Amino acid sequence: MIYKRSSALFKEAKQYIVGGVNSPVRAFSAVGGEPIFVKRAKGAYLYDEDNRKLIDYISSWGPMILGHAFEPVVKALVEATKKGTSYGIPTELETKIAKLAVEMVPHIDKIRFVNSGTEACMSAVRLARGYTGKDKIIKFAGCYHGHSDAFLIQAGSGAVTFGTPNSPGVTPGTVKDTLLAGYNNLDEVKSIIKANKDEIAAIILEPVAGNMGCIIPEESFIKGLRELCDEHDIVLIFDEVMTGFRLAKGGAQETLGIKADLVCFGKVIGGGLPVGAFAGPQHIMSHLAPEGPVYQAGTLSGNPLAMTAGYETLKYLIEHPEIYHSLEEKTKYLHTGIEKVLNKHGVEHQINRYGSMLSVHFTDEPVSDFESAAKGNNQKFKDYFHGMLKQSVYLPPSAFESYFLNDALTYEDLDYTIKALDEIAISL
Ligand SMILES: *Cc1c(COP(=O)(O)O)cnc(C)c1O
Repeated sequence: MIYKRSSALFKEAKQYIVGGVNSPVRAFSAVGGEPIFVKRAKGAYLYDEDNRKLIDYISSWGPMILGHAFEPVVKALVEATKKGTSYGIPTELETKIAKLAVEMVPHIDKIRFVNSGTEACMSAVRLARGYTGKDKIIKFAGCYHGHSDAFLIQAGSGAVTFGTPNSPGVTPGTVKDTLLAGYNNLDEVKSIIKANKDEIAAIILEPVAGNMGCIIPEESFIKGLRELCDEHDIVLIFDEVMTGFRLAKGGAQETLGIKADLVCFGKVIGGGLPVGAFAGPQHIMSHLAPEGPVYQAGTLSGNPLAMTAGYETLKYLIEHPEIYHSLEEKTKYLHTGIEKVLNKHGVEHQINRYGSMLSVHFTDEPVSDFESAAKGNNQKFKDYFHGMLKQSVYLPPSAFESYFLNDALTYEDLDYTIKALDEIAISL
């Protein structure tokens, strides 16, 4: 048995931690088997408790875009720690990272830092409601915006408009204010707006989706949303928790050329520490406390260690813009390599890729929304995942998660990965 120690640690963890994990996807429920416990990580590699070295394609679900234990970040963190780890009082550092973010991201004047992507999205929706004086929001099936109640809604039977909670504990009162549409389906959005005239405060979406695999928005869809929001006084919220500072320094707003009214951040902006943020133009952000009446707060918001990791990461990205190109080239290389191998072995598949995000779906139909993503052959995905893991390649443990490449990955790593796939693809 390869994972003797991980298995023992998991067993012990389950005695004290619910399901043995602090976030469900880590439990490997979607792929079966038991999770691997990590001892340390450096660059593109994870080192597990059974002393194996794995090539990492999730990069902590996105944040470690520069690779694990990135030297400038680690050094700055060590220094910052000596100065105290939390004050709950303003620091100059918060202004420095805010200034940097405003410089990097188009169409934002002000930013508020929080502690997670969940908090960022939840707060952005509250602000949109406070700003517009309206209650309802539109979200898209398969887009993830964190685990706050308003987002835990799934398509019900019958009309898409009426959702049902996808977790016990979410009340019918909450459900009725979240309206659901299909990703890339502008007509559905139009009819929802028509049926709920003057009631929609915000439309929130992942501008490039990464939580149903990687899904690319059609140009007419994203442009159409912008127009509808202008026409009906709706706040367009881009949830860029995944895409922000990853696809480009200005995120998906920059690569798609579409302006959002509010933008949510997380993951990369914290450089591996718990950080989220939401941002927008002054006329909307001024409604937030203490300038305005919409309340939002946090004891550890703007924490000096979190801000240090975020600042060093963003600063490195803005000073080395070539990273975005090199990441995209590496991702393209991996894409081509995987495609060739799967074709050679006659395995039906779709690969979606945007920037440094990529996903492999085992289906012969194009994947453009949640429904088509769900058609993927899950048994094949499990075999693929575990086969690659045996070859020391760590992929996201669910067909609905995107790969996030990091800049520490070398072409040797990519070649190794493609070759590993060639060895296991025969059994797919
Ligand atoms: C990860 C993610 C979130 C939630 O962020 P947490 O830090 O896990 O709370 C929200 N939106 C998107 C698009 C994400 O990928």
